[in-house]
Amino acid sequence: MTGEFSLIDRFFKQRQAQRKDVQLGIGDDCAIVKVPEQVRLAISTDTMVSGTHFLPDANPAWVAHKALASNLSDLASMGATPAWCSLALTLPETDTEWLSQFCDAFFELASYYNIQLIGGDTTRGPLSITLTVHGFVPEDQVLTRQGAKVGDWIYVTGTLGDSKAGLELILSGEQMVHPSGAELEKRHYLSSPRVLAGQALLKLASSAIDISDGLAADVQHILECSGVGASIDVSCLPVSKELLQYLGDDIVKAQQYALTSGEEYELCFTVSEGNKGSLESALSHCDTPLTCIGQIRPQGQWELHDKGKPLAWNLTGYDHFRREK
Ligand code: ADP
Ligand code: MG
Repeated sequence: MTGEFSLIDRFFKQRQAQRKDVQLGIGDDCAIVKVPEQVRLAISTDTMVSGTHFLPDANPAWVAHKALASNLSDLASMGATPAWCSLALTLPETDTEWLSQFCDAFFELASYYNIQLIGGDTTRGPLSITLTVHGFVPEDQVLTRQGAKVGDWIYVTGTLGDSKAGLELILSGEQMVHPSGAELEKRHYLSSPRVLAGQALLKLASSAIDISDGLAADVQHILECSGVGASIDVSCLPVSKELLQYLGDDIVKAQQYALTSGEEYELCFTVSEGNKGSLESALSHCDTPLTCIGQIRPQGQWELHDKGKPLAWNLTGYDHFRREK
């Protein structure tokens, strides 16, 4: 790409944070990092494509936030501590205004979570952003989608459903008109990855996942990986007042949004009866809103109910802007 090196220097190299464990950052053929003893590396990659995961004219700062936050959320769901990332950026043209806004937001979030950009690739083509993140997990503690046991309680962080409502408002262009529009649009783009909560879950939860495909779909991933079933009380699902306002106070609709809204980047996890109390107090220390929404059941059982009254809802999965599922 023309001017690739000056672009990399100006926008990425000058800006990188300095972690002591980065021996060699941006500028050579590879980065060299020091991996501490007694940790395992957790590694994850996510791509965001213009027109699929965000609109081409979306605020570049919000796009950067969403790209990094979605990757940090994957680290959070495994209880990992963020360390390093690399960024493969495909740009249709050298738009320095776009890049400057993108980088300001990217480095602000990166420095908040002490994750250092150590390399990447810059190419010309349809706008897309691929990030690979690396984090540390203790070698003797793993938090995965496996491990949920019959009788464990199912929890979620934050509120659910806002991201889907935000996306609808963005697509209809009504985010400025609707009273909750600006807030819901932000919830779609500017989620806060639950990194501290994930770390607190390490010793206490039996399984965890981050909500990217929608709660109902992501709970199913835990159930499949753990070989169990579940019962969810929809009356417990945490929904925001903005979502309710957007849906004209239709609580059933809000509950359905909470079950199907993707790209929430909240955590869903399971915890044994014995660890319930410690977990609730650990998460209150990291200021994370927490709601118990159901319980793990034997394999094959999947029940949605409203305070005990069974529901036969047919829930469809979450679609991005134009992604076929
Ligand atoms: P190579 O051709 O050897 O792959 P590049 O010219 O692609 O090298 O990149 C030069 C240096 O800049 C490398 O250290 C690479 O990791 C880094 N780099 C390139 N693009 C980015 C980017 N978008 N973000 C961060 N680092 C980048
Ligand atoms: Mg390269």
